[in-house]
Amino acid sequence: MNESMARHTSIRVGGPADLYVTAEDKDQLEQVYALAEDAGVPITLLGLGTNVVVGDNGIRGIVLILAGTFRETMFSGLQVRAGAAVRLSVLSRECASRGLTGLEFASGIPGTVGGAVFQNAGAYDGQISDVTESVCVFWPDEKRAVWLSCAEMRFGYRYSVLQERQGVVLYLNARLGLGDPEASLRKIEEYNARRRKSQPLSYPSAGSVFKNPPGLSAGRLIEEAGLKGFSLGGATISPVHANFIVNTGNATAKDIRMLVEHIKNTVWETHGVRLQEEIRFVGT
Ligand SMILES: Cc1cc2nc3c(=O)[nH]c(=O)nc-3n(C[C@H](O)[C@H](O)[C@H](O)COP(=O)(O)OP(=O)(O)OC[C@H]3O[C@@H](n4cnc5c(N)ncnc54)[C@H](O)[C@@H]3O)c2cc1C
Repeated sequence: MNESMARHTSIRVGGPADLYVTAEDKDQLEQVYALAEDAGVPITLLGLGTNVVVGDNGIRGIVLILAGTFRETMFSGLQVRAGAAVRLSVLSRECASRGLTGLEFASGIPGTVGGAVFQNAGAYDGQISDVTESVCVFWPDEKRAVWLSCAEMRFGYRYSVLQERQGVVLYLNARLGLGDPEASLRKIEEYNARRRKSQPLSYPSAGSVFKNPPGLSAGRLIEEAGLKGFSLGGATISPVHANFIVNTGNATAKDIRMLVEHIKNTVWETHGVRLQEEIRFVGT
């Protein structure tokens, strides 16, 4: 009860959730949704909270986290079944060590498999949809889980069908290529070195704030608008990478919201481009 969400999000802001609940398996998940429906209580599903900014007044109702069996991974030949609560970075490294190639791009993305499928997370030369065969989704409104093909997931740039219709990713079936562990692990080290150089990893953040508009770089537009290093309260546009807002110690969600609006207005005025958020604001 009254669980501070600043403790459960990578940008370290946010008020309390009324109830913070973990579901260890599908039965528990169904029970939580049934009880919440009976009580008329909303559910907010989160993974590792690395792409969200929770409001300063917190989240009314239940924050639901997957755990237990959803943290398991199974390997069979070139196929991998990963639970939604598996850390993407761990999965990436484990695949690489087993000589399975295709997920190296994901090694530095700090969220879960579920969050990555929801958002079609990607970096460098890859995105989750590249390796997806099918996804097991629980539809709360139908009270059942179904397997959706990659086509049915309607993946796009940082987009999946789950952004239109609320569903819970339970498992990802991925198909990888036959690779060489040493080459894959080397690739991971290279990607991570590039990340350490180009991203403000020593400060709390929620990753890239805006999607890249077609053919453009959101970071470059923000930098060209003269906003690098600009602060509102404890929220600062990173001097390292302008598409990151970092919490320099005492940021509030309100600071971040205001800074996001300021960036959008300034980039519109200077470049005539409308930026669209990649991060998600949740709660109040
Ligand atoms: C330093 C840093 C670097 C980052 N780099 C990248 C990057 O290179 N590429 C990239 O794409 N992202 C990046 N991100 C953003 C983030 O890590 C990804 O979007 C990640 O996939 C979010 O996963 P999560 O578990 O933290 O999701 P959360 O932030 O907890 O949730 C994000 C959304 O996913 C939904 N969700 C979570 N779990 C499920 C589920 N099981 N079923 C359905 N919906 C679910 C939530 O409801 C929410 O709407 C970065 C973030 C940080 C902090």
